[in-house]
Amino acid sequence: MQRAEPQEFSRVLSSMCTEPHPTARAAAERFLATNPGDPGTYESVAALEREAVDLLGQVAGLPDPAGYVASGGTEANVQAVRIARNRASTRDPNVVAPASAHFSFRKAADILGVELRTAPLSEYRANLEAVVELVDDDTVLVVGVAGSTEYGRVDPIPALAELAADAGALCHVDAAWGGFVLPFSDHEWDFSDAPVDTMTIDPHKMGQAAVPAGGLLARGPELLDELAIDTPYLESTSQVTLTGTRSGAGVASAVAVMEELWPDGYEAQYRCSQANADWLAAELGSRGYDAVEPVLPIVAADLPDDRIAALRERGWRLSPTEAGEARVVCMPHVTRSMLREFVADVDDLADGRGA
Ligand SMILES: *Cc1c(COP(=O)(O)O)cnc(C)c1O
Repeated sequence: MQRAEPQEFSRVLSSMCTEPHPTARAAAERFLATNPGDPGTYESVAALEREAVDLLGQVAGLPDPAGYVASGGTEANVQAVRIARNRASTRDPNVVAPASAHFSFRKAADILGVELRTAPLSEYRANLEAVVELVDDDTVLVVGVAGSTEYGRVDPIPALAELAADAGALCHVDAAWGGFVLPFSDHEWDFSDAPVDTMTIDPHKMGQAAVPAGGLLARGPELLDELAIDTPYLESTSQVTLTGTRSGAGVASAVAVMEELWPDGYEAQYRCSQANADWLAAELGSRGYDAVEPVLPIVAADLPDDRIAALRERGWRLSPTEAGEARVVCMPHVTRSMLREFVADVDDLADGRGA
């Protein structure tokens, strides 16, 4: 049998993950046989995880952060909902999130038995009046998205955090994808901008770490304590993570790449990705395709469905938004020359050459 090979990244446009940075790859390989879920045995990776959380705190404006390296944004979001639910005393808890919130909140609601209320958007961001309408005495968490999955939009985080505080609820920011680009933009999104309680920020997306490396941050250890479970047969006495055995490779790669790239390397990458997104939106716009303004490096443009299908036939990994637009996430592996090739294919198909 032929040996399977991983896909190449040369035509991947829709993924929110990317090729791990070489430093991340090397660290992942070195720590492949470690398990931060058992810190008594795997001490050095446990120490690295504390470093990872400190570094994530620097990125997200939080000195002395609590948190851990999760399997991804999904786990971090589930855990944030779990913190809020456990901390509250209501028997009928609800979570209020914008309609743009990632589908992982639906999983969280289902697993944790909380009601998910989604507020309509205006201009792709949470509509504050609609959020106010949905918040009540049983609201345990208000979610804001900082870098939405489809359009890279940033919700009004300070206003949402204030709203949450007034309602006695926690405020969670989902910066799974946006966390490593937002520090270089002028958006208000982090712990220093607003009374945010918890945050999802994933090294394995724009952070260029190896999968799996997600991040959950909490303003204080007492929030994380809401998750603590006794662990009788481990040397450590309690565990806050959702999974037991975890990837030390993810943890080590996250530390290595953050040490290497924070902040200058990430800033340079952000500028390059943003310039690529602006270029692509302008090129598609000049050809008469409506492109949603890329506030962060994600472009959504209304190519016809059959064109998207034909581009996929040519090997472009491109996924439509819920509204049907073609969506290009300008990850580090998405270069200008790759985008030129993509636009050339769009033109070629528009001329009726090829299917
Ligand atoms: C990707 C993403 C997630 C989910 O993260 P996984 O690592 O895929 O579990 C959650 N929220 C946002 C905003 C995302 O972009």
